[in-house]
Amino acid sequence: MFPAKSFASRKVAVFGLARSGISCARALELGGAQVFAWDDSDPAVEKARAEGLAITNLHGVDFKTLDALVLSPGVPLTHPEPHWTVVKARQAGIEIIGDTEIFARELAPAGAKLVAITGTNGKSTTTALIGHVLKAGGLDVDVGGNIGLAVFNLRQPAKGRVYVLELSSFQIDLMPSLKPDVGILTNVTPDHLDRHGTLENYAAVKARMFARMGGNDLPLIGVDDAPSAAIAAQVASHAHVLPVSVLRELDHGISAPQGILRHHEHGTLRGEIDLRAMPALKGRHNWQNACMAYGAGIAMGVPVASIAAAMQSFPGLAHRMQQIGTQAHVAFVNDSKATNADAAEKALSSFDNIYWIAGGIAKAGGIEPLAPYFPRIARAYLIGVAAEAFAQTLQGKVDVVMAGTLERAVAEAAADAATSKKPNPVVLLSPACASFDQYKNFELRGDAFAAHVSKLPNVHMTSGGQA
Ligand code: ADP
Repeated sequence: MFPAKSFASRKVAVFGLARSGISCARALELGGAQVFAWDDSDPAVEKARAEGLAITNLHGVDFKTLDALVLSPGVPLTHPEPHWTVVKARQAGIEIIGDTEIFARELAPAGAKLVAITGTNGKSTTTALIGHVLKAGGLDVDVGGNIGLAVFNLRQPAKGRVYVLELSSFQIDLMPSLKPDVGILTNVTPDHLDRHGTLENYAAVKARMFARMGGNDLPLIGVDDAPSAAIAAQVASHAHVLPVSVLRELDHGISAPQGILRHHEHGTLRGEIDLRAMPALKGRHNWQNACMAYGAGIAMGVPVASIAAAMQSFPGLAHRMQQIGTQAHVAFVNDSKATNADAAEKALSSFDNIYWIAGGIAKAGGIEPLAPYFPRIARAYLIGVAAEAFAQTLQGKVDVVMAGTLERAVAEAAADAATSKKPNPVVLLSPACASFDQYKNFELRGDAFAAHVSKLPNVHMTSGGQA
């Protein structure tokens, strides 16, 4: 915890007293602000009070007497309707910001740098990979934001220190002065539309990442989807965009359509890294994440060889296509985070000889969209509530074992994979389902998978991953 100095002697309301709200309120107090902290939930208020925060019921406060409202990113700014504190703040004409905005205001005066990552998918992987690449390059790095630690729980900004922050669109919405040194947009696909209304509005929020960036900053933008490509074109009018594609080779930009990353500057090859053998960067989607990390690495002065070595040693994020162990020639991959067919598709498209563990509570549409990948599946081991429905979809196309539990699925899949004559068999947990019928969350499901795998004979556990 360190002081947030930009609000010294000013009055600030902090609404939303979860993890980030409490640490931000503390930082503001330390920096000499007068803080009015409040939450709609009694337990949250009690917890904050117990931690020594000054609590004030904001219903009774005239917002015209305040300088700013600091809002938790979980609180609705616009959709489905503005929160009551937002209405009061707008009527009073005070700024509405988030903890990440206050943090960002501490960076420039301290001489610290900011690498900011947003996008619909791949944020966490890209953020963790960039942290890993920059650390391997000898830089002084802190990683946080929407992933891991809240910003005011990171170390105090210092000269030369680089902050790698994952930012959700909700956080960007609350960061009017965001101006990263490296700003990254992985992709934009329909998501969170409940909160942002339309895809256009959602894309506009993501575009705000780049609005204040100029000639000395580096915008890295994935151009494989139409909304992101439109954003790249627009940002190019005020900053030097480096586009990223994993669908086609770019004459200017970073691309990896066949898994070989190439960085071209106006036709000249500047760097090349073969991503195909990187254990934690399998699949086209991860090549996109790797391209982003490459761009951040070179922007921060890390040599290409050092970036390549760091990508090779990246342990991956837990529960996301994470290779957790091997037994002879069989690999065990934990992709418990794949709670829908769209996410499972990424894993199924990344391997060939798959012993697939799936099931739980299915989303609408089940696994029908995965049909193009069925030929890659040697056998499926179905668990949980969705087992019957999935078995019907797979009937006549994929051999099925009604395993019921994860423990039995692991045992049977491991036994079958061990006898496979084809190359590189993979026992893959990529359930295409929520976990709630058998596990409280996807993390516990992934942990259980790892525990069952670790009990197999002669298994070699390779990675705990980064949580
Ligand atoms: P986020 O933090 O944006 O949710 P993660 O890095 O946690 O993203 O990845 C979550 C899931 O999204 C992964 O398991 C994978 O299925 C998919 N994914 C990861 N990176 C990408 C990408 N660049 N494009 C599309 N999908 C991706």
